[in-house]
Amino acid sequence: MLRGKTALITGASRGIGLAIADTFARHGCRVVLCARDASSLECTAAQITQDYGVEAIALPLDVADAQAVKGAYQSLFKTVKTLDILVNNAGILDDALLGMVSQAQIERTFGINTFAPLYMAQYGARLMHKNGGGSIINISSIIATHGNAGQAVYGGSKAALLGITLSLAKELAAQHIRVNAIAPGFIDTDMTRSLSAQKFEERLRSIAMGRIGTPQDIANTALYLASDLSAYVTGQVIGVDGGMLI
Ligand code: NAD
Repeated sequence: MLRGKTALITGASRGIGLAIADTFARHGCRVVLCARDASSLECTAAQITQDYGVEAIALPLDVADAQAVKGAYQSLFKTVKTLDILVNNAGILDDALLGMVSQAQIERTFGINTFAPLYMAQYGARLMHKNGGGSIINISSIIATHGNAGQAVYGGSKAALLGITLSLAKELAAQHIRVNAIAPGFIDTDMTRSLSAQKFEERLRSIAMGRIGTPQDIANTALYLASDLSAYVTGQVIGVDGGMLI
């Protein structure tokens, strides 16, 4: 479904980002993998190429560093020269009740979850425009739309990402760049496994379908938004949460 396309995926070293990169590659897409750890990215890229015979490029990057994002795109402008799909997936979860929230925590969370997707989209859209269009997919969260105690910072950072998604969808539509968001519910990754056993069980019980989501559940929706199956879909937020009630 993505043969001949090039996708950049942030936070591609594990969890949801890795599942998206793997799924896109399985569908014939060239993938550019971003995360901070260069050596694990190189291994993942080599594995993807071996498994699917597509080019996989490791691009080590701290997405919260605006200068580093600019530098990474400068290298892409010279090497890959083209971009069809950008997945802003890198994110952090750092829960705290309001009285315990620190300024550093707010700045770090918004830096990675909110500001980084803006920088990534700013440069990514230029490459897509040169190419005649593309698809930007922002990974938000059910917390953005439903809220949760102890998640004011995370929820705010992910809600802002939805505002960014809707405005960019309108701004970039004329350039044939679609912009959509996925709002995952409770997905089985290192991020959710870091919750206390009590919180993990509570969240699990709140899922109407009775099971935790898998990274592949999110990757399948990302595949739809990346491909021409969603050619007339922009400015949408797709919940992938098994009927989770928060
Ligand atoms: P994860 O912690 O397993 O993976 C996060 C990825 O982001 C890792 O590859 C990590 O290296 C990367 N990353 C973090 N900070 C970075 C930075 N500064 N620069 C570059 N890369 C960075 O998390 P996950 O569960 O796979 O989550 C992926 C996305 O989905 C996140 O945005 C998260 O908020 C969102 N999400 C997850 C869930 C869930 O239940 N797991 C639910 C809703 C939303």
